[in-house]
Amino acid sequence: MTEGGRESESDRRKRPAVPPPAKAAADSPSMHNLLQELQQLRDANQALEQKLVERDAVERALRENEARYRLLAERISDMISWHDSEGRYRYASPNSRELTGYNPEELVGQSAFARIHPDDIPTVQASHERTLRGEVTGPVAFRKRHRDGSYRWVEVTVRPVFEESSGELKEILCLTRDITERREAEQNLRLIQSAVNQVEEAVLITEAELDRPGPRIVYANPAFTRMSGYTAEEVIGRTPRILQGPRTSRAVLDQLRHQLSRGEPFAGETMNYRKDGSEYMLNWHIAPVRDESGRITHWVSIQRDVTQEKKAEQLARQRQAELAHVGRLSTMGEMASELAHELNQPLAAIANYVQGAKRRLGESRMGQDDLRTVFDRIAGQADRAGQIIRRLRRFVRKREPQRSTVNVNRLVRDVIELIEPEIRHQSVQMQLDLADALPAVAVDAVQIEQVILNLVRNAVEAMEQTPTEARRLRVVSQAEDAKAVVVRVIDHGPGIPEHQLSHIFEPFFTTKQRGMGMGLPISLSITEAHGGRLESRRDVEGGMDFRLVIPAANDDTPSDAGMSAAPTR
Ligand code: ADP
Repeated sequence: MTEGGRESESDRRKRPAVPPPAKAAADSPSMHNLLQELQQLRDANQALEQKLVERDAVERALRENEARYRLLAERISDMISWHDSEGRYRYASPNSRELTGYNPEELVGQSAFARIHPDDIPTVQASHERTLRGEVTGPVAFRKRHRDGSYRWVEVTVRPVFEESSGELKEILCLTRDITERREAEQNLRLIQSAVNQVEEAVLITEAELDRPGPRIVYANPAFTRMSGYTAEEVIGRTPRILQGPRTSRAVLDQLRHQLSRGEPFAGETMNYRKDGSEYMLNWHIAPVRDESGRITHWVSIQRDVTQEKKAEQLARQRQAELAHVGRLSTMGEMASELAHELNQPLAAIANYVQGAKRRLGESRMGQDDLRTVFDRIAGQADRAGQIIRRLRRFVRKREPQRSTVNVNRLVRDVIELIEPEIRHQSVQMQLDLADALPAVAVDAVQIEQVILNLVRNAVEAMEQTPTEARRLRVVSQAEDAKAVVVRVIDHGPGIPEHQLSHIFEPFFTTKQRGMGMGLPISLSITEAHGGRLESRRDVEGGMDFRLVIPAANDDTPSDAGMSAAPTR
């Protein structure tokens, strides 16, 4: 607003009330003069007043600007600084304390190029040269030593200010920001990324969407490309469904979905398909990735191709089963004479009954009832012979290992029946202590029977030199914390000397003249294949106490305390 300009509304409001000249005095010349004078005075007053108002406004604006500037300089975390053309501080905003460790007053006069990390000096110099040429530069990042001795990463934007008249560099304005944390976060991120890129395992990150079209892939590392044949570009934006095929287990996928929908991690194994269509067995762990609010935004899965491992496991299982089979054949070979003897008994009995019946028929001393009795006896003996042969066949038959849920007591009884002739022949007193309520076990019944048979035969053989009346054998079954079942075979033989104890599970270790030394190694390998333990201890009474420990079947496996090993027969 200029002096001659139009009054603004506020000016009018602010103007002090100067009384208008009195109408009655207007005609008198002296009054006219007075009026004129008054008019002039009023105009001058108004002009003066106008100037005053303006000065106030300027002062107020200045004060406001200053306050705003101070507020800005104090509020923003960036440091504002002015430098002379040589780079010396003329002014620094108060936050120089946090950034440099120095108060603004201490910085004034110091060079802005002091305390720069030696490796970063060339970067800063290059930027300064551009400033001198008149360019606005930055942000330029470099390390600057804080008063506490640590280097901080800073980012500086520089604006040169030139003299209007001479065009000479007058001042340099700098805006400095501490980016140490950001830099560290970036470095961490780079580290994580390069680690993920280099790990052996395939890593796949997907969105957290579970409904159709499914979770879209947002990241795949190079190991994933090596494993699947797909490049990251080929899979990003698509769903892991492209890796599935006819032999991918639906059950596993359903379980995965169920687990993920509850926000829980999942580990599983199923068949996957490479880009070229070939199959590979995939083992993967998948876990939710959450944001700060705890919401699941992504899933990260770590994947391993376990095809070779699976093949090796399969081969090892096959070998173990073959070895076990050979072991059974050899055991049966050793037991052949006992078994032949055992088989001979019912056959001899049958022959006897037939002879007797023939004789009595010849003498016409045989009625229908007598004949029926003889036939019943013959049938009974034939049944007995059949049982022996069936047991033998089951034991020597070559077959794939099969697991079923069984009660261990049943297996113990089967074994005792098989070896009973030998026990009888050796005059061994047999004591069976079988626990009533045993947890079920999921095992290959024939293989576990083979282990028990080995232990019992070893026990019987160990007592060959024991006086007949002391030949006592105890077979015990008991539960171990409801998590496992233990079968103990305790004899009254001489036991195993300390120096041999560590060798008994080695193949071909035997102290017997006709021994093979394969019974215990095979038993151990069968036990371990079942996740169990086979332990040997010296019994308090001097003999041996062998313990076969088998883990109980999972809770979700139906229990069958009364069930026999029938499914494998
Ligand atoms: P083998 O019976 O053919 O010798 P094993 O592997 O079954 O093979 O047993 C290895 C050795 O362990 C036996 O030769 C014997 O010295 C010892 N051994 C096993 N069980 C007993 C036992 N109950 N008492 C004493 N020694 C035993």
